[in-house]
Amino acid sequence: MTARILDGRGLAESIENSLRDEAATFVDMFKRRPRLVVVLVGDLPASGSYVASKERAAGRVGIDAEVIRMPASAATAELVALVRAIAAGDRGTVDGLLVQLPLPEHVDAVAVLDAVPPHLDVDGFHPENAGLLSQGRPRFIPCTAAGVQRMILDAGISTAGRHAVIVGRSDIVGRPLALLLSAKGPGGDATVTLCHSRSDDLADHCRRADILVAAVGRPGLVTGDMVKPGAAVIDVGINRVERDGASRLVGDVDFDAAKERAGWISPVPGGVGPLTVAMLLANTLLAAELSVGKNPR
Ligand code: NAD
Repeated sequence: MTARILDGRGLAESIENSLRDEAATFVDMFKRRPRLVVVLVGDLPASGSYVASKERAAGRVGIDAEVIRMPASAATAELVALVRAIAAGDRGTVDGLLVQLPLPEHVDAVAVLDAVPPHLDVDGFHPENAGLLSQGRPRFIPCTAAGVQRMILDAGISTAGRHAVIVGRSDIVGRPLALLLSAKGPGGDATVTLCHSRSDDLADHCRRADILVAAVGRPGLVTGDMVKPGAAVIDVGINRVERDGASRLVGDVDFDAAKERAGWISPVPGGVGPLTVAMLLANTLLAAELSVGKNPR
């Protein structure tokens, strides 16, 4: 069997098309474009390129995006003050505000993220938004987790009653995804196992998965023999490796081996990454709509 490829790029494009219409309706009604502000600290090349792709995608759907750059030496207090000033409107209207991670090591990332008010928190990291998600009444869902669920729904992969194994328990990906897949309703109702660095016998857990999600950041962590025949394999990992003398992006899954056993598989690049960006735009539009009392989707 060769797996069907879960084309995140194509799906993201169709999501962007509907967001473009929704943004145009917003502009017609409220005479302004939704606006996203991104704080980028330091000069990590990966962060710079993620932020650039968010900026480009915002432009494509009609959302204004401003990137505020801060030096890597910025102190926690300075960043907290900046986030508060942006939230207060000192840099113009703002519907969505995010701080690109990771922050430099000397910065207290929790303090900076907590300064983002929940109604602007389009990354969905604020405790209030995390709490709403855990209670099954989400407002802003962390973008990558939302993107994975959207990919599953779009492909018609059934989740109800199925066993989903998620490898990685971060607050950004694994944990919110476990909540989404185990929540009641479409794209949910799965039985979820959340694996992490202390899990015994990871391979054994993975082999029992109807839906296997890898979100660790370790190339080759999931080998072909860890995939149950016919399973849906979704690779969130993004790792830069040197291969055949060239620098390449790969996921956490041994794609070539896994695709021979899986029913569906997402590639890296071109899988979850573009959906993460599309979900950020969706959250920004939702934030703009909520700010004017317009009913969310
Ligand atoms: P993280 O470092 O915060 O979390 C990694 C998780 O993996 C931890 O919960 C840890 O317990 C677990 N882990 C580590 N080693 C393990 C092992 N040997 N076995 C099982 N579990 C193990 O990372 P993150 O922010 O959640 O990101 C994970 C990966 O996803 C990274 O490669 C990151 O670049 C990528 N990512 C991709 C997107 C996207 O849009 N595609 C978005 C966010 C993150």
